[in-house]
Amino acid sequence: MTKNSKAGVTVRQKPGGKIFLKPKKPVSLVMLSSGLDSLYALVKILTETDDIVLVHHVHIINNENRHEIEATRTRQIVDWCQKKYRRFRYSESTINHTGFTGFGFDIMSVAFEAGMVCRSFYQANNYPVSKLLTGWCTEEEPYPGRAPHVKAVVAANSFPYEPPNFFFFDRVTKMEEARYLPPELVSLSWTCRQPVMLPDGDVEECGKCASCEIMQPIYSMQKKAVGS
Ligand SMILES: [Zn+2]
Repeated sequence: MTKNSKAGVTVRQKPGGKIFLKPKKPVSLVMLSSGLDSLYALVKILTETDDIVLVHHVHIINNENRHEIEATRTRQIVDWCQKKYRRFRYSESTINHTGFTGFGFDIMSVAFEAGMVCRSFYQANNYPVSKLLTGWCTEEEPYPGRAPHVKAVVAANSFPYEPPNFFFFDRVTKMEEARYLPPELVSLSWTCRQPVMLPDGDVEECGKCASCEIMQPIYSMQKKAVGS
């Protein structure tokens, strides 16, 4: 077995065998939706680890018509974090479910694309993404029986490479996430499922959907901060 190091990578090879490259730092993939949970995960991984960070956004197009505002906010968040924290790789892809009656679970689309990012990364770099972060707050209970399917979807699109492991920081409430984050970033996040298009072309939260309901105390905190 020979072992030597290039910048950032450990190289191992048995005599005459396959060369195996392992990054010295773990590679973490954050699936950034523009919502608070994935934003919280992104800021934690950027500021509390020295992992190599990949960030990916999926344009989930469906009859809720929220993909444009989510993409706009995600790009603004990415710019902000690259300037204030550190550089990372950012990519996007699209899943279009327009016309279907059911929306399906967003997490399945996200998991499918996460697998593709990991597979692509392995093919380009010859080493794997080790951690996958999507964010998860305490207000959202796990949907019974769903977790194994989500893992299977990631694994299916990572195949034939080893899929990453899901990684979560300690689960906290949305309010705790908001208090941890800089207010500028909280104001860039977007959570509403049914955005309202205004005549002047602007967009605002509906204030009625399940996500808006959970976000209500945070919206109030933001209004107070602006008013003070
Ligand atoms: Zn809403």
